[in-house]
Amino acid sequence: MKIGCHVSISGSIDMAVDRAVERGCTAFQIFSRNPRGWRAKAISESESTLFHKKVASSGIDKDAVCVHMPYLPNLAGSNDEPYKKSVNTLKDEVERCNQLGIQYLVTHLGSHLGAGTEAGIRRLIEAYTVAAEVDKNVIILLENMAGQKNSIGYKFEELARILNQLEPNGRFGVCLDTCHAFVAGYDLRTREAASQTLEEFDGIVGYDRLKVLHLNDARGGLGSNLDRHYHIGLGNIGTEGLKEVVNIVDQHNIPIILETPIDDTRTDIENIQAVKQFA
Ligand code: ZN
Ligand code: MN
Ligand code: MN
Repeated sequence: MKIGCHVSISGSIDMAVDRAVERGCTAFQIFSRNPRGWRAKAISESESTLFHKKVASSGIDKDAVCVHMPYLPNLAGSNDEPYKKSVNTLKDEVERCNQLGIQYLVTHLGSHLGAGTEAGIRRLIEAYTVAAEVDKNVIILLENMAGQKNSIGYKFEELARILNQLEPNGRFGVCLDTCHAFVAGYDLRTREAASQTLEEFDGIVGYDRLKVLHLNDARGGLGSNLDRHYHIGLGNIGTEGLKEVVNIVDQHNIPIILETPIDDTRTDIENIQAVKQFA
């Protein structure tokens, strides 16, 4: 099983690999910079070399590592100034993935801010198209959203519609987040519900487009649109459904990455352990 969690780059970017190894990860995710700011320090050659070396010696597959976009960019927005800034950040992150030898970049589809879904989708497609031109190796992933007001991409149909308009097709894929799907209204609580939701996903989007699974339990209820992750098995989805998701997704050899809270309830290692016991 390719399983791991989001790890901090605090100190220096290569230290994320040490943290992944300490946690027994066979997959992991990082932010390449402070996720709550616009500015980013360039990655130096010595930093990227060290990162490459550590990943190679960790034994973690290159296709089980991903970068998550910072939070401020909104790729579906209609105001020119913030939109331009957002597209530049996306292009920059594609380049940073390339420097780090990381294949996958996880992105949020953002909010149309009231301009309507169609206008938002046009902005997104433009943003993704120019960003894909920055580097030929990086695959940009569209993450399903929790369904907050004006947000794009919480329905599988919408993800598929956007994906089908993106060229070249092979440069784009999906990151499925279980917490987001659940609070967006897709039931995952029982074996039957989980397998039915994933069947629906397969029929509309397809497992061939699924590159990363974000495995998170949810603080919010079904359809609540509340984007608050929780520890595996301790939230409103629970063990039975998450276990079924893990077993189905693992059959496709898709990396499973936890974005569970950092608090006193459970450590990352304990959450990873809980998932390993599902197999
Ligand atoms: Zn995300
Ligand atoms: Mn996620
Ligand atoms: Mn989230």
